[in-house]
Amino acid sequence: MAEIILENVTKRFPDGALAVDDFNLDIADGEFVILVGPSGCGKSTTLNMIAGLEDISSGELKIGGKIVNQMAPKDRDIAMVFQSYALYPHMTVRANMGFALKLAKTPPNVINEKVEEAARILDLTQHLDRKPANLSGGQRQRVAMGRAIVRDPAAFLMDEPLSNLDAKLRVQTRTEVSRLQRRLGTTMVYVTHDQTEAMTLGDRVAVMRSGKLQQVASPQVLYDRPANLFVAGFIGSPAMNFMSGALEDGKLRTAVGDIPVTGRLQQTLSGANVGRDVIVGIRPESFEDSALVPAENRNYGITFPATIDVIESLGSEKFVYFSKELGSVETAELAELARDSGRADTGGSAETVVARLDPATQLSEGQDTELWVDLRAVHVFDPATGQNLTLEESSAPAGRASAGGAAADTGTAASPAAPAGSETAAQAGTDSAAGTGTDTAAGTGEATT
Ligand code: ATP
Repeated sequence: MAEIILENVTKRFPDGALAVDDFNLDIADGEFVILVGPSGCGKSTTLNMIAGLEDISSGELKIGGKIVNQMAPKDRDIAMVFQSYALYPHMTVRANMGFALKLAKTPPNVINEKVEEAARILDLTQHLDRKPANLSGGQRQRVAMGRAIVRDPAAFLMDEPLSNLDAKLRVQTRTEVSRLQRRLGTTMVYVTHDQTEAMTLGDRVAVMRSGKLQQVASPQVLYDRPANLFVAGFIGSPAMNFMSGALEDGKLRTAVGDIPVTGRLQQTLSGANVGRDVIVGIRPESFEDSALVPAENRNYGITFPATIDVIESLGSEKFVYFSKELGSVETAELAELARDSGRADTGGSAETVVARLDPATQLSEGQDTELWVDLRAVHVFDPATGQNLTLEESSAPAGRASAGGAAADTGTAASPAAPAGSETAAQAGTDSAAGTGTDTAAGTGEATT
């Protein structure tokens, strides 16, 4: 078991692309940390630097108290699991799982013992003598995990290990991964681009954008106290609604009404030296059908008129869409989020607001009604810096990211270039069981019939 520390770690590729920019993170022994962010933000590069599959351009990486910048992957005592499981098709599950130990000349009886124990943990005992091609995607994924587990490494590194599974199996398997990590108590760093996966899995989640760490915190803190516009828009589903706000006469004028600027909001906004124009963020779940708000809660929010465009009923909740003049909220962060989610209504100048209401609501499509918004959960962002002005920490200087801390968002996108062959080196170095080079040939991820 080991602690992993990244200090000012930077990766610049030979073509000049800055993939990871001054990354600071302390991962405690036994902690489960998720790296999440949109495609190209530098997650895999960060993981590969921890594994030793990519050189570190500058900064320091420590595993278990030792600086390992120059240490070969095989000496770092870590095991990696990739999206492509990279199983040998001609070997049984047992042989696949024990292969790394066999290479390390571990006595056969010890290999057997470890493989059988891992198979028990992963519920693979009855499949030990089958070949990967005869297994389901979920079972293959477990074999790939088993191959890592038998090595009893100091840390597991996982790069989108569930991406090849269908949606239902992914949900089921992510619970298994979580249980497994708790049971083993081994440090785990897990890369995903899926914010739901990130939120459900980790002790702490590190959100990245354009090579820069934006915020690292527990899932609940990321949700409740996003450091900036990017984290606010990335975490949460459906995404936070953004609209322009104008500070005038002690009020914040928004598309859903005037928000009195008093108490905490007044304090932080007056201290933040912000101009008249701000961006207001409201999560879908901060709205309610005003007819269903208990009297004792009413004063925590304001009501406003809305015409319901569309209602999506999910049984346990209802999503209600309505239109408002939201004003211009065009920032680089929100544009990137809109591109990443493939949805035009994430920020930008979209006019649609989504509200998650109590399923007991009797509202219907086309109805003119009154909705309520809980002002306790409204976020206010500085359009220039993207910082969340409703947090005390937001005025803290950028720097070392710890739980709840935020780094200033000034990242620039690294230029795109596919890291050809890097995975081949990856597997060869960290997990001698199989290389991604052989994986394509093995085709175990695709061979299901
Ligand atoms: P994805 O989820 O799409 O895998 P990611 O967040 O893991 O994305 P990385 O693969 O770490 O992102 O890439 C980060 C940036 O570095 C990208 O802009 C990418 O194009 C660039 N990059 C990655 N590998 C190389 C390389 N070998 N040479 C040059 N640039 C690279």
